[in-house]
Amino acid sequence: MPKIRKVLVANRGEIAIRVMRTCKELGIATVAVYSEADRSALHVRTADQAIFVGPPPSRESYLVQQRILDAAKQAGADAIHPGYGFLSENAAFVRACEAEGLTFIGPPASAMDSMGEKTRARANMIKAGVPVVPGTTEPIPSVEEARAYVEKIGFPVMLKAAGGGGGKGMRKVERMEDFESSWRAAKSEALNAFGNDAVYIEKYLEKPHHVEIQVFADQYGNTIHLNERECSAQRRHQKVVEETPSPILSPELRAKMGEVAVKAAKAVNYVGAGTVEFLVDVHRNFYFLEMNTRLQVEHPVTEWVTGLDLVAMQIKAAEGEKLGLTEAPTPRGHSIEVRVYAEDPSRNFMPSPGKITYLRVPGGPNVRDDSGVFPGYTVPNVYDPMISKLSVWAPTRREAIARTQRALSEYVVKGITTNIRYLKAILAHPEFIEGDYDTSFLTRQHDALLGAEDPKLSEMALLASVVHTYQKDQKRAKTLPAAGGGQGGGNGGVSPWKLALRTRR
Ligand code: ADP
Repeated sequence: MPKIRKVLVANRGEIAIRVMRTCKELGIATVAVYSEADRSALHVRTADQAIFVGPPPSRESYLVQQRILDAAKQAGADAIHPGYGFLSENAAFVRACEAEGLTFIGPPASAMDSMGEKTRARANMIKAGVPVVPGTTEPIPSVEEARAYVEKIGFPVMLKAAGGGGGKGMRKVERMEDFESSWRAAKSEALNAFGNDAVYIEKYLEKPHHVEIQVFADQYGNTIHLNERECSAQRRHQKVVEETPSPILSPELRAKMGEVAVKAAKAVNYVGAGTVEFLVDVHRNFYFLEMNTRLQVEHPVTEWVTGLDLVAMQIKAAEGEKLGLTEAPTPRGHSIEVRVYAEDPSRNFMPSPGKITYLRVPGGPNVRDDSGVFPGYTVPNVYDPMISKLSVWAPTRREAIARTQRALSEYVVKGITTNIRYLKAILAHPEFIEGDYDTSFLTRQHDALLGAEDPKLSEMALLASVVHTYQKDQKRAKTLPAAGGGQGGGNGGVSPWKLALRTRR
């Protein structure tokens, strides 16, 4: 396959800029597309060329396949990178690109078909011998049948939209009294969000961890995993903070989950970057949740600890290059990402679009800010309000937490309200610092996290952190006599780099 020379990025905001940065480094020309609301957006300024694709609502611009294809032709692009969201997991769009002779930088349409609908994905995974969350593999046709099924498996259950994504059409039900109303609500939400009201049932797992495995495959069936990301800090089933390595994974469990993720990817002849999401229960059993057939929002943490550029790898795979790696690189150190939103936590996280009058972005060693905004920019009210992803690297988890806190304290956004204070509260919370937080963490600690300006809570967090570090150091002192019993100041003169590598094994 010939080398890609010009890429149209069919997206906006930080991810469009992220993709363009790598293209530039590879000597590939970039084309942006933009809606009426994005005339002055940063992704438009970053690209070599920009083409207008329609009115602000994404249904009339970024999601109109023909407009994107026309823009690619007009610009003379030979490939399209979809980013995440929008058309990134649309098999019909992949086929349309192929029909136009454009390279789609992503998996083949057939892999999307196999993984797109949750029920079909579950059936395919069962066939491939991958453990899935217990539940049905078909949408349930009537509320009577649904009730009968729940009587069999017992409460609590999760009603889920077969065509789901973004936490929509999902309802936890705990008692029969609530079943019918939840069923109706899930169905109508699914219809609204996905144009498809098919709903199925999963057993609701109590206090699970969301741990996902990054996979990567070339066009010749070489498939590897690139370790995990812990994404259990969620609000309304949406990730807020991500980190790698997962603080709860043993090397054995990592290897096992990685192997199963590769099996899942191979079963659908996957190509490129993909993510196999799992729920891990209290007994550390893991179950397939879904596969995201695209680059994830949280991919930077994987890049930090592996030293890889996943976008460059995607482009090379699309060009038909063979995968250079034969196995997962051992993760080096620790990385954390926080999602910075234009939203107001004190008003139920209502989006807070508007003009950014002042902006100071954190910097310093091992800090990365993937942002889509600049001072004077007006955050539009028609798109997702995420304005940036702040990620850091450090030799150890404790240092990564301190670095994230330091970077967040440098972050200043004026003119609009952001969730920065909320993110700081998460990073300072004893449960997060302890490292064993499940998907209920943010909901359970809602009040504490919002009241974090309360000096008592900060004091408590500090104290918990000191005690925790002390206990960990004591434990380590027993198992790692040569390390001098600590990670920070008391590491016996051992470099934190060496220590990080040593403690990872
Ligand atoms: P979506 O595709 O809408 O993002 P997912 O299936 O990926 O939905 O699930 C998102 C999150 O919802 C999970 O990370 C988890 O926190 C929660 N969740 C989903 N299914 C279950 C389940 N069966 N039991 C408990 N929590 C679940």
